[in-house]
Parts: sequence; C-alpha cells; structure tokens
Amino acid sequence: MYSDNKIHIIEVGPRDGLQNLSGFVETENKISLIRRLAESGIREIQAGAFVSHRAIPQFSDMETVMAGLRDLHDVTLTALVPNIQGARAAMASGIRKLDFFFSVSRSHNLNNVRQTPQESLTALKIIRDELLSGTDMTVRVDFATAFGCPFEGTIKTDVILDYLKQVVSLGFREVTLCDTVGFGHPALVESVIAACRKHFPEVALGIHLHNTRGLALANALRAYDMGVRSFDAAIGGLGGCPFAPGASGNVATEDMVFMFEAMGLATGIDLPALLRASQYLHDILPDAPITSALFRAGLPGKVEFRDRQNDGC
Ligand code: ZN
Repeated sequence: MYSDNKIHIIEVGPRDGLQNLSGFVETENKISLIRRLAESGIREIQAGAFVSHRAIPQFSDMETVMAGLRDLHDVTLTALVPNIQGARAAMASGIRKLDFFFSVSRSHNLNNVRQTPQESLTALKIIRDELLSGTDMTVRVDFATAFGCPFEGTIKTDVILDYLKQVVSLGFREVTLCDTVGFGHPALVESVIAACRKHFPEVALGIHLHNTRGLALANALRAYDMGVRSFDAAIGGLGGCPFAPGASGNVATEDMVFMFEAMGLATGIDLPALLRASQYLHDILPDAPITSALFRAGLPGKVEFRDRQNDGC
C-alpha cells in the first residue's frame, strides 16, 4: 500500500513549541536544543520567528540564536515571518528559507498579524519583488487555520483554493496546510488535500498538525495516503498559538517519527537520538507539558517474563 518515498519531517518545536511558553527560554538552551535536534538527523528546523518582540518576546533573541548556529551546515534553518520587516530581519540573520504565514481565516489573520489575508498576500508579493530576486532564498507559504478557525469555524475549500491560486501565480510552489487549532479530522484532511492536488498538482504540499483533539497522527497518516511527504512536528508535542483560543500542542516529533519508522517508512531520523533531545527539553523546561507518548513510554522492548504464580501475590 505504501510507497518508499522518503518522509520529510520539519521540526517546529523551537518556534511553535516555545512561543506559547510563559517564560523566556535562555538563548543558549535554544541553541543547544536545535543542535540536538539536528544531531538526530532532522534536516529542516524552524528556528523561531521574526515577529514583533512586544507581541512574542520569546523570539527577541533570534539574531543571537542564528549567530550561535552559524556552523550548522547540513540543516536548513527556517523562520516564520508575517511581513517584509520580518523577512528582512530573517535574511540578515542568516536564514535562507522563509516560512511566510497567513491565516486563510480573515478573523484569525486580523487577530494574529493585524492584516487581512489579502494584505498578507500583498506583503508576500513585496517580499518577492524587493528581497528575493538574485538571492538563493527559498520560501514556503503556510496557510494557517486551513482546517478550521476558532472564530469562523470550517473554512470553505474554495477559499483555500483561491489563496493557493494567488500564491502559485506569485511563483511559490511550497505550501503547508496548517491545522492551527486542531479542528481537522481524516475525512476533512482528505477532501482538502484532494482538492489542492487536483487543481495545483505542481505544488509541494506539506501539513502542520496540532493534536488538540487527539487526531493529529490519524490526520498525518491520511495526508500521507493522499501523497503528502512533508510533515511539521514539534519535539515533546509542545505548541499552541497565542492568538488561537483553545489551541494546544503540535503533533509530537517523537510519535510521528515512531509511527512512520514502525511502518517501514524512512524518515532519516534516529529515534534514540531524538529521545535524547526530548530528555534535554525536559531537563531545561521541567514544567513544560511534554505530551509525547513515546517519550513517556519509551521505545518498544521486551521485558523479562516471570511466572507470577510463584510470586505469592
Ligand atoms: Zn502550529
């Protein structure tokens, strides 16, 4: 049933996982976490976001984080940007791949980045025209709330297709559909992806899932069945959205890698090394809600069988 196409796991924990924590994570700990994630074999890591420091103080040290990772050559470090100021700052810090994000829900985008989706797409065009030409920069475009919005409910697939058309006409070919608040379920994932692939087969679709209602892995598997090979995940299952009431953790990287590897689908990621990164996360943030089932249970292994009849209990 499954082909042997390689799975591309994109680690978003340093951004999506940390942005919702109330306390500031020390810069050197962010750098060490990213290094440990890279050591596990993850080849693309969202290192943070270039956004208003006032709105999200967690990322006020992005330049220093990037400076501390300058020798990390075999990993693509990306950053979330909502506008040209963010894109300019990201590029100046050494980011070579931008994750431009906007919400396909007008209400969520207004809440999140104080502009309409159409204004966000205008900003994307300005980024392309003013910053990208003559550079080796790549851009992925994130469609937040693609599977539902806390303010507007279900988003019509036609709305998503219209934004996809605009993004494609701007020349971008990498798009990630984000279940920002965990409204998605496998049938919805299937129908949205089927429509996108039918109308825009040239687009490399990724998916970004939150496990708010326990369906993230089911959704990931359905996305895989529909041809998606690019999956966001966050170490420990941390995550949320400060402007999405009720949002909770991303699908845990450990659990997603475990699922695919157990099925014989290569991710290129070494699970014991990944679990060492989870342990490090727990060590530096002992109060953070780590929800990874694999971190809690460990890798499957045999325990010694004992005949309990003779135990006297
Ligand atoms: Zn997210």
